[in-house]
Amino acid sequence: PYEHMQKIREQNISPSLRMYYKKPLLLHQGHMQWLFDYEGRRYLDLFAGIVTVSVGHCHPKVTVAAQKQLARLWHTTNIYMHPSIHEYAEKLTSFLPDPLKVVYLTNSGSEANDLAMFMARLYTRNFDIISLRGAYHGGSPYTLGLTSVGLYKHSVANGFGCSTTMLPDVFRGPWGGSHCRDSPVQTVRKCSCSEGVCHANDQYIEQFKDTLNTSVPKTIAGFIAEPIQGVNGAVQYPRNFLKEAYQLVRERGGICISDEVQTGFGRTGSHFWGFETHGVVPDIVTLAKGIGNGFPMAAVVTTKDIASSLAQNLHFNTFGGSPLACVVGAAVLDAIEEDGLQKNSEEVGTYMLLELAKLRDKFEVVGDVRGKGLMIGVEMVTDKDSRHPLPGEEINQIWEDCKDMGVLIGRGGLYSQTFRIKPPMCINKKDVDFTVEVLNTALQKHME
Ligand code: PMP
Repeated sequence: PYEHMQKIREQNISPSLRMYYKKPLLLHQGHMQWLFDYEGRRYLDLFAGIVTVSVGHCHPKVTVAAQKQLARLWHTTNIYMHPSIHEYAEKLTSFLPDPLKVVYLTNSGSEANDLAMFMARLYTRNFDIISLRGAYHGGSPYTLGLTSVGLYKHSVANGFGCSTTMLPDVFRGPWGGSHCRDSPVQTVRKCSCSEGVCHANDQYIEQFKDTLNTSVPKTIAGFIAEPIQGVNGAVQYPRNFLKEAYQLVRERGGICISDEVQTGFGRTGSHFWGFETHGVVPDIVTLAKGIGNGFPMAAVVTTKDIASSLAQNLHFNTFGGSPLACVVGAAVLDAIEEDGLQKNSEEVGTYMLLELAKLRDKFEVVGDVRGKGLMIGVEMVTDKDSRHPLPGEEINQIWEDCKDMGVLIGRGGLYSQTFRIKPPMCINKKDVDFTVEVLNTALQKHME
């Protein structure tokens, strides 16, 4: 069916959707961490869809829960009551600390972040939002203003600086760099995070203060950040950066939003939410991707106080909080608990990081191995001194060779130079050994 589908693609599917790989995969079915193509070849899915399949492809418990609900009631919109939305809101918030107890159910991460911005503005009566360099918060016209990965911006260079981004009032905080804060492996940057204080932090905080004082002295509505930058390739901030940034924003009347779209639901291992690893409690969290194990659903969770700022008017979306989505979301939470997936992320993720660090030590082109739990970045460089991104064609070859040997890896970073490893949280140490063996073979071939 391959040629036939290629033809339909060319004629009827948006050309702005880019396929992975020279010869894109034509997939047939999935089971837990494995995907299968039409020729029966199996692939270890280290990208979990796009960090969506948190508990495993077609996880039996989630699948059965969805099937039962499909036969009962799919959808009613939010104008009627149904038990599943109440049960889900109660269950989801039981995983979150006080005062994060009010849930809005949406359909995608971009929509969740749009709503979070909207809330920050209504609540503070201010307008400006700060996001960080290297951030990805969505592809909608508003969230694109928060996203700083250039690849996604469809700029219309017409001399007026016109672009599809609709938020001139978003200010960028400093570059997060990449630090080994909380990671079992030391980054090649040799920051001093492991000594308890990262000296780079002072510099970042100074820049952050400067942005606040010069750009948004009295007008800040909110600050949004991912606890670990996902699309940017598992980039970690210096120790204490987020904690101090939250304090500075709050002193100026702004609220803090944690984008947990990639870091939530146990992926970082040591904690259920990424913000917990920074010792902060945000005012709003946004959730998507892993929340539904691939089912399209998302959420914003906030405080009663902030939620009340939206209550004067109707805020509505048609599909958010459908019975089907709520039942899937609840089954995902059960699966994470029953299968011990947060603990598995920590154990298998740490093992993966340490094994990958051996490849970093062996190959000059592996510039950095970083991350936490099962949120891992492997940065490919020309050499460890310059840290210039390895040319795209060379990275593509290594990546394509891994696919041909049965391992699917994601890509990220500002130059697409970082391999992203964020598998379903059910993978095991044998899968790690297989991954390292395949990457080792692909890198060896590259060196020849
Ligand atoms: N936030 C983060 C951190 C993301 O990684 C993404 C998606 N890559 C989004 C928001 C946007 O989510 P969606 O694609 O569901 O709109």
